[in-house]
Amino acid sequence: MSEAIVVLNAGSSSIKFSLFVAEGDELRLELRGQIEGLFTAPHFVAKSPEGKVKAEKSWGEGVKLGHEGALEHLVATLRGELAGSELAGVGHRVVHGGMQYTQPVRVDRAVVDALGKFVPLAPLHQPHNLAPIRLLLERQPELPQVACFDTSFHRTNPEVAQRFALPERLYREGVLRYGFHGLSYEYIASVLARYDARAAAGRTVVLHLGNGASMCAMQAGRGVASTMGFTAVDGLPMGTRCGALDPGVVLYLMDQHRMDARAIEKLIYQESGLLGVSGISSDMRTLLASGEPRARLAVDLYLYRIRRELGSLAASLGGLDAIVFTAGIGENSAAIRERVLADAAWLGVELDPAANAKGGPRISASSSRVSAWAIPTNEELMIARHTRRVLGLRAEATL
Ligand code: ADP
Repeated sequence: MSEAIVVLNAGSSSIKFSLFVAEGDELRLELRGQIEGLFTAPHFVAKSPEGKVKAEKSWGEGVKLGHEGALEHLVATLRGELAGSELAGVGHRVVHGGMQYTQPVRVDRAVVDALGKFVPLAPLHQPHNLAPIRLLLERQPELPQVACFDTSFHRTNPEVAQRFALPERLYREGVLRYGFHGLSYEYIASVLARYDARAAAGRTVVLHLGNGASMCAMQAGRGVASTMGFTAVDGLPMGTRCGALDPGVVLYLMDQHRMDARAIEKLIYQESGLLGVSGISSDMRTLLASGEPRARLAVDLYLYRIRRELGSLAASLGGLDAIVFTAGIGENSAAIRERVLADAAWLGVELDPAANAKGGPRISASSSRVSAWAIPTNEELMIARHTRRVLGLRAEATL
């Protein structure tokens, strides 16, 4: 009987899932999908890797299924799909592992309590990430669970990259630059050698450009710097998040607009970024297709900030061998990649327009000193691999 691993990514209003089945040393995706609208109008869909709908259910307006009801439905559906394989474990995406969790970990009650201490560091994500872990520990204590963290990859950053220039006591309390999107960066680091051995052994900047967006500098596959900081609102402007912001602006909003923490949180997480600047949409496709000057400004600002961060990250590495684009915008938008690379010409990168239009993977010209790539990320597979390894289902050396 082959092993199956379920990967869960639970948010405030949805749970995304993937089901992998072991095939020798590899893991094959069998099914993926989500339950969304957990507290409004729940809808479940499961699809084959090719996108064919395999199961679907709606609960109707106003039904409050919650994480508990959603999980029950998911587990029942997935067990039904498991003919011929055995559910060996569940891997969870957990946004925050603090300073303590530099690697994925098998969860028990003590671990989940320790992870609960990071809720104040990521109040919009951490409680929802932990909800299904707690529920499964209660309901199915025999089912092994593993937590994989978005922060772990960045723990190899040198201390100067992790510290704010604040008094020492705040650092000791955990106020530092954690960095996020680590599972995506780790996946890219794990496959880079297949594409470019020099980049895998050398200095690479990866651009994870999705609804959330960040950039990460890697030296020989290990993280050395990231644009995200204490929270996932720092760094680049995103769909609705502002990115790096002078803290003086926050003080001004408190003093002059009488805004409290919750009101400022809403402004900088949900009303800013591409949406805030354009006043039109948080969706890059919509902005690129729009003729409105405000849409153009939002895209220009996004690119300007990428250009500056790229210089900063290249400086942190002392030079550059490769640039990798990934996530929704990075994988799909030839126009954004072209403009980022035109801005980066001074670093020694030269675009191959035809390869870029085709979607890569290599998008730099053969004469380019710095290579450039578009590589699909796969955070779910990364979590499934970790889960299998942590549970001792597979030799670590073959990861
Ligand atoms: P998330 O961070 O939620 O996982 P994704 O990685 O799926 O998000 O990225 C979503 C973003 O990718 C959206 O802004 C969407 O407009 C953008 N995107 C997807 N396809 C394209 C495309 N062909 N051109 C430009 N942007 C795209």
